[in-house]
Amino acid sequence: MTGHILNGVGVSPGVAFAPALGLRWSLPDVPDRTVDDDEIDGEILRLYAAAADVSAQLATLRERTRERAGPEEAGIFDAQIMMTNDATFLGSVEALIREVSLSAETAYGFKALDLREAWETGKNAMLRERVADLTAIQLRMLRRLMHLPDDEAWMVNLDEQVVIIARELSPGLTVQFDRDHVVGFVCEEGTRTSHAAILAHSLGIPAVMGVRGARDAVTDGTMVLLDGTTGIVILDPTSDELELARIQASRRHKLEMQLEAIADQPAVTPDGHAVGLLGNIDLPEEIEPALHYGAEGVGLLRTEFLVTGRTSMPSENEQTEYFRRVGAAFAGKPVVIRTYDLGGDKFPSAFDAPHEANPFLGWRSIRVCLDQPDLFRPQLRALLRAAYDRDLQLMLPMIVSMDELARAKEMLAEESEALQRDGVRAALTLPVGVMIETPAAVILAPELVQASAFVSIGSNDLTQYTLAVDRGNARLADRFSSLHPAVVRQLAQVQRAAAAGGIPSSVCGEMASNPLAAVLLVGLGYDRLSIAPPSIPLVKYVVRHVPVAAARQAAADCLGATTTSAVEAILRDTLGRVVDMRLVDPVGALPRPTVGASFRT
Ligand code: PEP
Ligand code: MG
Repeated sequence: MTGHILNGVGVSPGVAFAPALGLRWSLPDVPDRTVDDDEIDGEILRLYAAAADVSAQLATLRERTRERAGPEEAGIFDAQIMMTNDATFLGSVEALIREVSLSAETAYGFKALDLREAWETGKNAMLRERVADLTAIQLRMLRRLMHLPDDEAWMVNLDEQVVIIARELSPGLTVQFDRDHVVGFVCEEGTRTSHAAILAHSLGIPAVMGVRGARDAVTDGTMVLLDGTTGIVILDPTSDELELARIQASRRHKLEMQLEAIADQPAVTPDGHAVGLLGNIDLPEEIEPALHYGAEGVGLLRTEFLVTGRTSMPSENEQTEYFRRVGAAFAGKPVVIRTYDLGGDKFPSAFDAPHEANPFLGWRSIRVCLDQPDLFRPQLRALLRAAYDRDLQLMLPMIVSMDELARAKEMLAEESEALQRDGVRAALTLPVGVMIETPAAVILAPELVQASAFVSIGSNDLTQYTLAVDRGNARLADRFSSLHPAVVRQLAQVQRAAAAGGIPSSVCGEMASNPLAAVLLVGLGYDRLSIAPPSIPLVKYVVRHVPVAAARQAAADCLGATTTSAVEAILRDTLGRVVDMRLVDPVGALPRPTVGASFRT
């Protein structure tokens, strides 16, 4: 008999096998309990004692996160600790205990429900994003007050490895998991380019998204075998299925050994064409893996994940310190730091985002920065200060007009002047490049390159905006392809514009991690790819096997193709002539080392 099979989209390759742990936000049923007058003071003491306990538990978690991941991520728990100790909220619970003689848990339960409803239905996107935090705290508080065991083990210390089953993961939630024990994710929502998926990929945690009905189909403790390459999730797999997974894992292992062998070799095609392979870094803890996988610099340092879940934006000094840290780790190599790309599906709690019907078409990214100088200017100053003795470059996301670029550069110049005036040690300026993420930027590329030091294609957004397909919508996942001819032709257009303008061009969206797409990009003339660090070895393997002449021919053929499948067929054919396609996954999800994948029967 075969195990029950669920299908989704493989968003982060690798195999994981562990018991399921569902992420359900069900709060315990709180009984309506009143107390005698002489018990009221005791209930109030219990309330504050529970808040102190929960804060201590969160502080422990914060310290563990600080040790394992760094101070930026640990900051996430500061927000939860603050919420736990919120004096206004606790005061309102205390008042209710006094006024209606309720038990601590009953009063807390009532007030918590009110607050959650207000946040969930309110207009403030920041508060809606924080509901998960709020619920997590309320869960802890109610469990303390009701003397219930902490079975929401994912929030505290997990003793065993688990596969998380969730409806949807936000980037903020994803970074909070105990990553020593969470070996895989299965989500009902999400696609390859949703930010939680990008994070899972960068962290090397196998994940399958877009699995409809996963939460109902999988009960806690069910053994789950997931393949983040094929998108297949098997519940209670048979021994044959496990055996097959083991064989596949061992094939991947063989490939990994081959990849290890070329770790110190350059990314040069057999006919001598060099391709720079840089790393995308989302979180500080990815610096080490990026170095380990041989990143020749950082082609995209995302800065928004640093602030996800924090109650305040990082100070200028804190940012300066972080940028210097990354610069030092990659000394002598380029480090491209992207200014805040907030909005869309990235809402840090410190960011007061309005409710919008279409956030990806809304107040996002450079628009936010230009409208909120208090947010943008400290980041520009930090960049200038960190660039004093480091090879740092600044990259602006989501540019759609020349005005935006001009205004951002103006603000940079103003901050530079101010720093010089104040005698602060800082670079006079630094190279400013733009991300090409919209058809508008593609059309304006000839002009943009005149005013930029470099361009980098954000293919996730370029695909989303070209095809009008929401990058995070699981229902549309098979309609989202960066190998669509309309995207391919724009890639060519931008590369030609950059070459004509004499500036470097690169690609830093997820497509650059895909072996088929890598052939196309090299063939189109992109000499620099920035990718999730765990994918660097496989892309290097591809570069080292495909002559640039063959890649150029394939790219020329792709430009004549009129369908996505025709583009894929051309690339598969080109790659298949020089490498074993059983090793290089034909759909582009890459075999590579996984974190914590385990095989237990
Ligand atoms: C992109 O859009 O391709 C990109 C690299 O930026 P992000 O994924 O952070 O939006
Ligand atoms: Mg983008």
